[in-house]
Amino acid sequence: MRIAVVGGGLLGALLAWRLATVPQGRARPRIDLWTGSPRRRDRDATSSSGGMFRAFETSPRDSALAALSLAELRSDAALRDWAAFREVGSVVVRPPGADADASLRAVEAVLPGQAELVDLAGISRMFPFHGLPRGSYAVVERRAGHVSPDRLRDEVLARLPVAAVNRLACDVARVDATPSVCPVGGTPIGYEVVVLATGPWTPALLARSGLDGTEYRTKQIEYTRFTGWPDGLGVFVDETSGLYGRPTGRGTGILGVPTERWDVRPSAAVADQDGVERLLDTVRTRLPGTGASLLQPAAVGTRCVAAVDCYHDTPGVTLRAIPSGEGLFTFTGGSGGAVKTALAATREATRLLLGEAPRPSPGRLPVPAPGSWRA
Ligand SMILES: Cc1cc2nc3c(=O)[nH]c(=O)nc-3n(C[C@H](O)[C@H](O)[C@H](O)COP(=O)(O)OP(=O)(O)OC[C@H]3O[C@@H](n4cnc5c(N)ncnc54)[C@H](O)[C@@H]3O)c2cc1C
Repeated sequence: MRIAVVGGGLLGALLAWRLATVPQGRARPRIDLWTGSPRRRDRDATSSSGGMFRAFETSPRDSALAALSLAELRSDAALRDWAAFREVGSVVVRPPGADADASLRAVEAVLPGQAELVDLAGISRMFPFHGLPRGSYAVVERRAGHVSPDRLRDEVLARLPVAAVNRLACDVARVDATPSVCPVGGTPIGYEVVVLATGPWTPALLARSGLDGTEYRTKQIEYTRFTGWPDGLGVFVDETSGLYGRPTGRGTGILGVPTERWDVRPSAAVADQDGVERLLDTVRTRLPGTGASLLQPAAVGTRCVAAVDCYHDTPGVTLRAIPSGEGLFTFTGGSGGAVKTALAATREATRLLLGEAPRPSPGRLPVPAPGSWRA
């Protein structure tokens, strides 16, 4: 089988690697990996990603995939090294009444004992958060942390078997549903399967190709580097205020709050002073004592990182069939959280592409099977 994977971000690189390293005895496809020009790569989601990595997610499907991914990472020393995994712990603070049962069950099925529920009094004992609403609770995972998605991508790309993967560092102008790939300045090349792992460039590529991309949108994500990181605080999300962050080194860390900047082109992502002021307000309320005063307006350009990810109406990374084509799929839509699920999602996609499980139809997400990371 000839497969084209378009996009050399974390998802495209891992998918090509999975396809090229299926165990002996199973059909091995020939893969063309279209990585795009280096100019794009510097603006992709993977190179700016915060790399927060835990099992609990608000969607049960993503929790299953994230738990499977964490299980694989923990069981594989080489992967941990490639990804520069740091086990600093994780806490997700949830608003009063938010349901976590189905997600916790999905995590427990893969990693028993991974997640612990902590009430507001417990949060106050364990973490430096202030002003949380009464009735808030937390999902705490001691065995979670962060990775470097950029490093993992590079290590995987460097290990792609040359006999199975042909790397093409040029931009794809458009695709069609036959399916084929047409590089910039070239003529269409036909494949049995084409997968668009083009992250935030996906809506534009679909539009250029005359295909329906209305379910896909881009959104800006940003964070800022801080000093004065509180002792004992690992990776965190405070859903009651939107604040998230992780430590980066001795006494330093990154912090952010969600933006509402939709439909931003990847090359146009930029942090502005309004966003920084909003972040500083939230930091002063939730983490007073963190070195917010060190962040001066003049430093916005150097201390802030802004990039764009691909969001989907039904969030989550999976193979999505393009309705007008037999073998044309997208593989994106992680909606700001795909690093956690990438290892298991690429394993799942490999099984589907090689015909070991029924391929998805539009609008239906496959349910990940616990234990499938051992395949
Ligand atoms: C600022 C930020 C922080 C984040 N933090 C976290 C986090 O802490 N934890 C977490 O789990 N997730 C996080 N995410 C989400 C996660 O990083 C992304 O979902 C993930 O990296 C997406 O990978 P990707 O391969 O789909 O896309 P990308 O990394 O954007 O890669 C797409 C690739 O496609 C290539 N391409 C595009 N168009 C073409 C074309 N026409 N021809 C050829 N190639 C093309 C580009 O060169 C690019 O390399 C974050 C995202 C951002 C933006």
